[in-house]
Amino acid sequence: MISDSKVIKLLEQLTNGEIEELKPVFNPKSAKCVDYPLADKILTQSNSYTLHLLEDLTRLGYLTKKFYDKIMYCPVCNSTDIRYSTYCPNCGSGHILHSIVIEHPSCGYLGIEKEFTNENGHKCPKCHKELNLIGSDYNSPGYYYKCYDCGELVITPVEKWHCRQCATVFGKEEIRELCLYSYRISEEKKDKLHLERIPKNRVAELLIRDGYEVQGSFKITGRSGAEHEIDLLATKHSGPFEHRIVVGFASAEHEVDSEEVIKLYAKAYDVNAQDIIMIALPRLSPDANHFAQHYRIRVFEAEDLDKIETAFNHIHT
Ligand SMILES: [Zn+2]
Ligand SMILES: [Zn+2]
Ligand SMILES: [Zn+2]
Repeated sequence: MISDSKVIKLLEQLTNGEIEELKPVFNPKSAKCVDYPLADKILTQSNSYTLHLLEDLTRLGYLTKKFYDKIMYCPVCNSTDIRYSTYCPNCGSGHILHSIVIEHPSCGYLGIEKEFTNENGHKCPKCHKELNLIGSDYNSPGYYYKCYDCGELVITPVEKWHCRQCATVFGKEEIRELCLYSYRISEEKKDKLHLERIPKNRVAELLIRDGYEVQGSFKITGRSGAEHEIDLLATKHSGPFEHRIVVGFASAEHEVDSEEVIKLYAKAYDVNAQDIIMIALPRLSPDANHFAQHYRIRVFEAEDLDKIETAFNHIHT
C-alpha cells in the first residue's frame, strides 16, 4: 500500500487529469541531466528521489513511460548549445557544401549540377556535349559534398560539433546522447486508483492523523471464530478503552447492493468495531442505503470522494 501522502497526491493529480503527463526537462546541472519539475514540486524531495520513484511506480505498473525526446550535448560541459559542421576529408577545409551532382557516363565526368547548366539546358563541362535525357545522356546520383578548396567531391564529409559554451570541437561519435521519457498514469491502473487506492490511502491517512493505528488488507479472526478480511482496521487506545473502526470498500458496475452492506456490518460486529465506514463505488443502491442507515454505517460514495477530507472531520466531532 502506498502510504506517502505526497506520492498519493502525485498519483491523484495524474489520475484526475490535473497533470496529464510528467514531462522531462533537460538539466545539465542535475546528476542524471533530467528533471521532472512538476513531480519535484509535489514530492518536495531531491531530484534523484523523484527519478527513483518514477521508475519504481513504472515497475509497479502505476505509470507508463514513453520516449519523449533525445538530447545531444557537449561531452565536456553538458551544454546543448552545440553547432554541427562538415569538413573535407581530403584537405580538412570547412569550405565544403552539399549539392546535387551530375555524371556524364560517356566521358566519366562527375560534377555539381551548376557546372552542367547553361541557358539551353545541360552541357558537359568536360567534353561539351549537350545532355538532354536524364537516365540515358546523363545521371543524377544525388547529393555530394564539394570542397571549394581542393575540388574534391565526397559523399561523406567529416562531421564535427562545436560547443558554443566551452569551445570544444569534437567528433560525432563523442557527442553525448540522452533519451528523455515522459510518464503518465497507466490506463490499467487509472480506474483502480481512482476508485480504490486513492480513497483507501486517503482514509488511512486521515485516520492516522486522528491518532489511529491503521492496518490495511489483512485477515482477522472474529469473536465467532470466523476469519474476516478487513480492508482497513483503525484502532485507537485511550486508557483501558479501545476504539475500533472498520473501513470497507465495495465497488460495483452500477450500484453496490445491500448484501455488501450486510456483510460489512457482520464483519465489523464480529471484530468488535464501534464504528463502520463504507466506501461504496460508484454508489449504494437505495435498498443498500436503508441498511447502511439502519446499521449506522458512515457511507462515502464516488461523488463524495473529493470532499472526503472535510466530511471526515465531522465523523468524530
Ligand atoms: Zn561544452
Ligand atoms: Zn578539400
Ligand atoms: Zn562529358
